[in-house]
This record gives sequence, C-alpha cells and structure tokens, in this order.
Amino acid sequence: MLESFCPDQITARLENIDQQALLDRGIKALLIDVDNTLVNWRDDEIPLVRRRWIEQAKDRFAPCLLSNTITVQRVEQLGQRLSLPAVGRWGWGRKPFSGGYRQALQLIGACPTETAMIGDQLLTDILGANRLGMYTIMVHTLSDSEFFVTRINRWIEALIRAWLVRRGRWPTLQPAAAQEPEAGDER
Ligand SMILES: [Mg+2]
Repeated sequence: MLESFCPDQITARLENIDQQALLDRGIKALLIDVDNTLVNWRDDEIPLVRRRWIEQAKDRFAPCLLSNTITVQRVEQLGQRLSLPAVGRWGWGRKPFSGGYRQALQLIGACPTETAMIGDQLLTDILGANRLGMYTIMVHTLSDSEFFVTRINRWIEALIRAWLVRRGRWPTLQPAAAQEPEAGDER
C-alpha cells in the first residue's frame, strides 16, 4: 500500500527535469503543482529559469497547473501569466482526491497514463497521481514556509520515505538536465 506513495522519479527542481526523457517515455501531458514546486509558498514570483522550462514544455507537452488552494483566482492568474490552463481545488476535489486531476486532464484532453504529475508532496501530488496511473515526479520543496497541515504531513512523509528507502524502493535523485538554449540566446 505504501508503494502508492512512491514517486517514479525525484529531481531537485522543476527546471532540472529532463523533458526529452519524458518524451521518450511517451509522456504527452504535464500536471504541475504550484506552491513550493513552481513558486515559493503563496508567492507569485516565477524565476526566469523556471519560466523558460515552462515555455519549452509548452512546445512539447500539454501542461496544466494543478493546485490545492482556497484562492483559486491566484492560481488562475499564475496560469494566465504563463498562458497555461490552471485548476485550483479545495474540499473533496483537492489532491490526493481525484476530482482536480480529472478536471485538469479534461481541460487539456489528456489520459492519465500519458501524463506526468510534478509536485513536492507525497501525500497529495504523488499519492493521487499514482492512484490514477500517472508517471510521478517529486521535486524538493522550494521553501520552508508551508501550510500548517503540510508541516504535519511532512512528518508522515518522512516515515513513509524511510520505509521505502529500507525496501530499496525510493528512487535516486536524477541529475539536472542540461539547460536548453532559448532561441535568440547568444552561444
Ligand atoms: Mg506543493
């Protein structure tokens, strides 16, 4: 049962994820968590390196933001700034429940087995996506600031991770993919 919490891949940062490797796996769509994956918790600043990664991803995949949030408007505004569809859910539609994932998949016309979920939390992002049969990528959380429930979840997460490590199931950290130059960049 604890295997449902195990990510398929761990990469330190969103911008370190190798997009070509995902294409080679047959991944066509990306669901991207917002807080502590795309931006610091409750922050709206998206660093340039991450914006570039998203721009490249838009040429190759169907990406969508997927956030557990009460402030849906903020997530939609982040999506608008990146020209990405965005789904913000709370209540029974939040991750790890399936409602938000299904809404996002429907928005981008994707099926779970061809979709990768990228997020920083085992108990929400990874668990829900694994249950739906997605490829799951865990990133290191961007900041120490978190929702108080998340801080409690981190304790549970540490126990689950230790269990998976003991059984040799915890993936090793993937090295950062080489940054691809932007069109117009000086070489
Ligand atoms: Mg998060």
